[in-house]
Amino acid sequence: MGTPLRPDTILTYEQALSVVHEKLRQANLNPAIEAVLLEGARGRVLGEEVRADRAYPPFHRAIRDGYAVRAADVNRLPAVLQCVGELRAGQHFPGKVGPGQCVSIMTGAPLPLGADAVVMVEDTQIQADRVSVLRSAACWENVVQQGAEAAGGSVVLRRGGRLGAGELGLLAMVGRKQVVVFRQPPVSILPTGDEVVPVDQQPEWFQIRNSNAIALAAQVAAAGGIPNPLPIAPDRADRLRELIREGLRYDLLLLSGGVSTGKYDLVEEVLSGMGTEFFFQGVAIRPGKPLVFGRLQEKFFFGLPGNPVSTFVTFELFVRPAIAALGGAAPEPPLFLRARLARPIRLKLGLRAFLPARVQVMSADPVVELVGWQGSGDLVGLAEANCFLVIPPDQMDLAAGDWVDVLPKPG
Ligand code: AMP
Ligand code: MG
Repeated sequence: MGTPLRPDTILTYEQALSVVHEKLRQANLNPAIEAVLLEGARGRVLGEEVRADRAYPPFHRAIRDGYAVRAADVNRLPAVLQCVGELRAGQHFPGKVGPGQCVSIMTGAPLPLGADAVVMVEDTQIQADRVSVLRSAACWENVVQQGAEAAGGSVVLRRGGRLGAGELGLLAMVGRKQVVVFRQPPVSILPTGDEVVPVDQQPEWFQIRNSNAIALAAQVAAAGGIPNPLPIAPDRADRLRELIREGLRYDLLLLSGGVSTGKYDLVEEVLSGMGTEFFFQGVAIRPGKPLVFGRLQEKFFFGLPGNPVSTFVTFELFVRPAIAALGGAAPEPPLFLRARLARPIRLKLGLRAFLPARVQVMSADPVVELVGWQGSGDLVGLAEANCFLVIPPDQMDLAAGDWVDVLPKPG
């Protein structure tokens, strides 16, 4: 018999998430680091602090095409200035802009000495070398001052931050070709169930393809881990135990299925017998209530419910932050967005629900609507969704137009 859920270990969503964060923090993980080329660093977690090699911008940079002027000269309008030169990006002006003078300047060029503002070309009229300025400019208008983005030597990227395209651009800007990142945690994936067969096998009519391992591997990779699929464990204690041992060779073990209360849900029983410390054995969420989190032989594991949508949701809510922590990332709080309900919803759950839904921006506010789905086994319904509509446990009656939380569905 599967170990029944112990009521004292069923936590709320918030409690369970903070247990995950807390246990990983207490583990004092110290992931190894490695150097990688920028070209292969997208999605990796920064393992060093990165400083600006010089001031940014490195010079007072013009951000409009126009004329570099002394702001004091264009206080009173119209001001007529003498244009004493032209400056493109990639050049610098050898002289100095004196009173009554200006220099034609292009976006990206360094402001010449003496000038302290740029007037836009649209606000001028030119006749030979005479420039009439039709709009006054404040000091530093249309200029980003040297060092305004970053002082030379200042920290521009912190350890533990994730490298996206923008961060990679910043690394290139400060002259880096490679960067120190944390090693990606290897994560084993152990599907369970007598009815589950490999995806390349023709299932009998009463069998189910092992879709969870494929979806979980993609989620692990997206979360920054390295997925390691294990063979399917049948609902038999001896073989399950063997494969759990195998899975414990990785930084994190993800089991799918076998954590409900059925007669052949053996995962918790087998784990118990192996000396597992359970941190929780159930979370008041739907889908995903039977979720299990614990540690065995110094390794963390999650027992994810086998229903594919439950597996997907519990991964996103709890496993993603665990993989982030194992990979050295600074904690990233879940990002809920707000949308208005398209139709009323009445639920009697007492659980926090994460229901597959579609959000779209209609005229002004984003509007969210549940997709038709047959419950937590329905991957067809999940594919229709672009978010999960979040319903708090105490909210039973929601009217059309009510503001609700939505959790974007990751790709
Ligand atoms: P369980 O949590 O073992 O009771 O499984 C719940 C439901 O999820 C059952 O309908 C299983 O057939 C299904 N299921 C379990 N494991 C997988 C898997 N690896 N891939 C797809 N479906 C699964
Ligand atoms: Mg099962």
